[in-house]
Amino acid sequence: MIFDIEKIYEEGLDFEVLEAKERFNLDSPDSVLTEDIKVQGRLEKSGQTILCQGSLETGLTVTCTRCLSDFTFLVKGDLKVHFTPREENSKPADEVELTSQDIEQEFYNESQIDLSSSVRDLILLSLPQVILCQEDCAGLCLECGTNLNKKICACKHEGSGDPRLAVLQQLKDKLK
Ligand SMILES: [Zn+2]
Ligand SMILES: [Zn+2]
Repeated sequence: MIFDIEKIYEEGLDFEVLEAKERFNLDSPDSVLTEDIKVQGRLEKSGQTILCQGSLETGLTVTCTRCLSDFTFLVKGDLKVHFTPREENSKPADEVELTSQDIEQEFYNESQIDLSSSVRDLILLSLPQVILCQEDCAGLCLECGTNLNKKICACKHEGSGDPRLAVLQQLKDKLK
């Protein structure tokens, strides 16, 4: 997702790219891209600064935190990035005036900007901390491991399960 800055003209540049999922490394063990990444938007140049505004769509296979089944999670997000040149004498970060909290700041080298890391950040930030396959996912039986969304086992269930045990279960799974 690299753009030549010289191709961004006075009036800006509209773009639409479809990045093959195989070419995109998400660096996340819990989620796997299952759809190509569609990014469309507009690049505008203002002096040395390049502003990218657009939207992103893709899909991933993720694992439900509660019942551990894999399911598809669709990502749709707004991409907003400010690119400024990386210079030897650029101001330290704490002196740079941030225009807005929700605009990501990136640097570019020489004549090209690269959207890849912003896109990766946006995808990863779109994933909630606790990912549930359905809002009222019944989870796994803590006794026998049955997926309670699919069938009810013969074990005794008191209430809706102890949340502390669920946390332990998650920790155990992380250690696998
Ligand atoms: Zn679930
Ligand atoms: Zn059971």
